[in-house]
Amino acid sequence: MLKYGLIGYPLGHSLSAVMHNAALRHLGIEAQYCLFEIAPRRLKGFMLRLRDKGDIRGLNITIPYKQRVMKYLDRLDNSARDIGAVNTIKREPDGRLAGFNTDGCAFMRRLRELGFSPRGKRIAILGAGGAARAVALGLAREAPQVIRIYNRHLRRAKQLAGFVRRQFEVNIEAADDIAGLDIPGVDLLVNATPLGMQPKDACLVDEGSFSRGILVYDLIYNPPRSELLLRAQRQGARTENGLKMLLYQGAQAFNLWTNLPAPERIMEAAISPSPVCRAAKSIYAQ
Ligand code: NAP
Repeated sequence: MLKYGLIGYPLGHSLSAVMHNAALRHLGIEAQYCLFEIAPRRLKGFMLRLRDKGDIRGLNITIPYKQRVMKYLDRLDNSARDIGAVNTIKREPDGRLAGFNTDGCAFMRRLRELGFSPRGKRIAILGAGGAARAVALGLAREAPQVIRIYNRHLRRAKQLAGFVRRQFEVNIEAADDIAGLDIPGVDLLVNATPLGMQPKDACLVDEGSFSRGILVYDLIYNPPRSELLLRAQRQGARTENGLKMLLYQGAQAFNLWTNLPAPERIMEAAISPSPVCRAAKSIYAQ
């Protein structure tokens, strides 16, 4: 049987298998989408063996490997080269492994649906990893007033700011410290770190500091409401979690792998946190 799948570590939070298997079943495609939870010391071996595993036709990549898998691929699509990270791998008909990035389009598509235009806006991004790259590049294209990147390791934030500046004339800078985050002066705050996935995680933004006009977009979708979103909601801020982005990036990946339009409504129903789904998926019980 043909296989698709997700590489990452850890993967307990992921809804990708539920979403893609629903799409494969709906279209009668005899294939299975599997979760490949690969510890960092096993990544190299997995990627080297992937070349010979012809039954694996496509993969998604998640935290923490979006940048690390790039060196094992034969070709990078412009989407992956521009962003500097890969979230989708496709085995091409000649066996070559090609890397794509569908995160940026997915994020911007959802932002448009929410009626948020980045033009002239002040934006703060938490994180400087693979997802933050896709978000920063997507936003930089649309002439914001300023993008500030807050990251645990300043060096990585500076690298991302420099990478974006080389492609766009945009005011983007690495912030020295999260303590300098000026929420009232921000129109859009994006969390592109995994902080909030675990109940014990610290929240990077203080209770009481959100302004009403801000849109707080957390790329985390499990739990559906992270501590960051709960704090923002309590103060009347607009909030969005990562579920629609998951859907849109997955739909584009599905289309790349199968050359078929992705059945988005089926995929969305599979991951919707309805009471029935919640009971069925231990994932929401964390
Ligand atoms: P990544 O490439 O590994 O980057 C992780 C980022 O988070 C880095 O900037 C890292 O900082 C920071 N970070 C990690 N642990 C931290 C901690 N304990 N304290 C402070 N900062 C920390 O991961 P990614 O692929 O960008 O994913 C980031 C998040 O976005 C994940 O939660 C992922 O599930 C989510 N995501 C969601 C979607 C969606 O479709 N909804 C798509 C993509 C990603 P350092 O650089 O200092 O290590």
